Amino acid sequence: VQGYQNQKVAVLGLGRSGLATARALQAGGAIPLLWDDSPESRQKAEDQGFTCTDLTRNAAWEGIATLITSPGIPHLYPKTHPVIARAMELGIPVDNDIGLFFQSLATAQWDRYEQPPRVVCVTGSNGKSTTTALIHHLLQEAGRPTQMAGNIGRGVLDIDPPEDGEVIVLELSSYQTDLARALTPDIAVFTNLSPDHLDRHNGMGGYFAAKARLFTQGGPDRAIIGVDEHEGRYLANQMGQGPGDDRVIRISSGQKLEGFGWVVFARKGFLAEWRKGKQVASIDLRDIAGLPGAHNHQNACAAYAAVRALGLAPRQIEDGLRSFAGLPHRSQLIAERKGVKFVNDSKATNVDSAAKALQAFPRIRWIAGGMGKDGGIAALQPFLGSVVKAYLIGHSARDFALQLGQTPHEICETMDRAVTRAVAEAEPGDVVLLAPAAASFDQYPNFEKRGDDFVERVRGLV
Ligand code: ADP
Repeated sequence: VQGYQNQKVAVLGLGRSGLATARALQAGGAIPLLWDDSPESRQKAEDQGFTCTDLTRNAAWEGIATLITSPGIPHLYPKTHPVIARAMELGIPVDNDIGLFFQSLATAQWDRYEQPPRVVCVTGSNGKSTTTALIHHLLQEAGRPTQMAGNIGRGVLDIDPPEDGEVIVLELSSYQTDLARALTPDIAVFTNLSPDHLDRHNGMGGYFAAKARLFTQGGPDRAIIGVDEHEGRYLANQMGQGPGDDRVIRISSGQKLEGFGWVVFARKGFLAEWRKGKQVASIDLRDIAGLPGAHNHQNACAAYAAVRALGLAPRQIEDGLRSFAGLPHRSQLIAERKGVKFVNDSKATNVDSAAKALQAFPRIRWIAGGMGKDGGIAALQPFLGSVVKAYLIGHSARDFALQLGQTPHEICETMDRAVTRAVAEAEPGDVVLLAPAAASFDQYPNFEKRGDDFVERVRGLV
């Protein structure tokens, strides 16, 4: 990171991105002052050769140029972290690793490059990781130099120095887009919007505003926007000037988009690209194993549009879509025995993603529950028709049971019991689906561990 030589930069939060920030600042000649509320995290930083400075003490703030904070730390009323509050009182800029990354990119010298690196950023409520990984995969398959980072894989400040012509693909959550001071992707992708993380952003408006910053800060050359919700339509209208404008590529899963300059949509299993009222390409998505369900067809549209904007040809993209293996814990088929399929969608931590999973299969033995979110599973009522029976686990098991009403269900508490019961009762044609519609923190450190536990127990039994 350039631009802070010999200056003190405070770093709050010493997880993966905080430590990467500290290393990058040091490499650029800055003096990082590190702090984390947790003694364990401070110890980890010290084990890596850093010293910590107590930023809750006023004396520590002498001469600090900026404060870099980590995604998990709240900065808005009423939960503002005291260290962030202090920086704001003192008029010290608050930024994050994403802001530093874009700042460095803008100030670096690219004279020796024929084509300076370009950045694609993906945000939205659901499908970010899948879309990011898919864009990265499509570029790789087309032989383009590319790296993927952000909320997926590595922290942005951990990436390798870019090659000539490289495309850097970043997955960004609202926790990252809300604070980044510089946010200037070449291509910005907005997949969709559903309520999530509302407490941090003070409700839906704040949550959308955090994501929309990706489009409004620098103004990307190209904006790829899912227009199946009002917010996406609003954003697209703000960016695109009338039907002829090529700056926006509108995408949809389900609607035929007409009357716009450039659109990519999926309907009945087919992806179609239209430009200026003419169909340019069509791809049959129905038998692509790595992208099952209408929600993944939406991701395919978003990724297709992004790499089209980068100059890939439809045929090339089609080959890449076919070889995409999918991501673990996202509608992942993990086993099949005696006509029963086992699908791990542990990443379905909110009702919207769980709704997609419930629509992807006709007969479901549904393992659900964990740390439930506001409203529980009330919003899933319209999608319960495919549920043969629910096996409820975790903290929310009893709440979910009440909300399930007439839908057959059983309180199992643990994954072990849920899998055992579902396997015992499953019949040919059933899908045993883990799609919790809840966070994992009551029983697991993260959704990956929850998914691994499911996979292990399934493998133990079938
Ligand atoms: P994110 O990174 O935004 O959380 P993922 O690709 O990891 O997105 O998928 C998260 C969850 O949402 C998974 O359960 C997945 O099956 C589901 N999902 C994936 N794509 C979409 C989409 N376009 N719309 C709704 N749900 C989706």
